[in-house]
Amino acid sequence: MNVQDTHARFAFAPAPVPAVPIKGSDKLFPVHRIYCVGRNYAEHAIEMGHDPNREAPFFFQKNPDTLVPNGGVFPYPDASKDVHHELEMVVALQSGGKNIPVEKALDCVFGYAVGLDMTRRDLQGEAKKAGRPWEVGKAFEAAAPCSEIVPASAIGHPSKGGVWLKVNGAVKQKGDLDQLIWKVPEMIAYLSGLFELKAGDLIYSGTPAGVGPVQRGDVLEGGVDGVGELKITVG
Ligand code: MN
Repeated sequence: MNVQDTHARFAFAPAPVPAVPIKGSDKLFPVHRIYCVGRNYAEHAIEMGHDPNREAPFFFQKNPDTLVPNGGVFPYPDASKDVHHELEMVVALQSGGKNIPVEKALDCVFGYAVGLDMTRRDLQGEAKKAGRPWEVGKAFEAAAPCSEIVPASAIGHPSKGGVWLKVNGAVKQKGDLDQLIWKVPEMIAYLSGLFELKAGDLIYSGTPAGVGPVQRGDVLEGGVDGVGELKITVG
């Protein structure tokens, strides 16, 4: 069955493929899934009331159709009065698999970007307390702003460099990639033991300390030194 036949069989037009621009290319990076690592910086684990010691990583997912491009607007979401910013480095995969060894993991990386894991903290908090899933806190509309992807062929695989976020020009989050509890190859290896990773997967690698609320009209400017920057306005 060719593509046209396939489309003719859909009851209505399928949603567009979510995609992220690639720096230095007119091609787009087609997004498959979005995984996020929880509590991957000790200072952030402490500010959220958790043990900063290295425990097994845990993951949650966001919906790929919630990406917002650099320069875009994050519409303040419904159903929350406490929406937080979490600035993170994003790892973009060009290949995947199951049970990927740590020493092969970086071969899967296409490149890196700067992302915001926007969080309805009040709804996430209620879900945590009730032992319920986190989607209401993490996977809502426009919850995944992401800069253009910079290919690893251009910048290598950064393992140190500032990770920062300013709100209306004031520094709110500040950390360094060298503080990641689970490093990029480790998170890929671990995640591939739980899910079959695929080309097009994005991994939000966790946020440094300093998360906090945003208000309508705020300008969020963040970056990962050596990777890029991301600017988003809260609408
Ligand atoms: Mn996060």
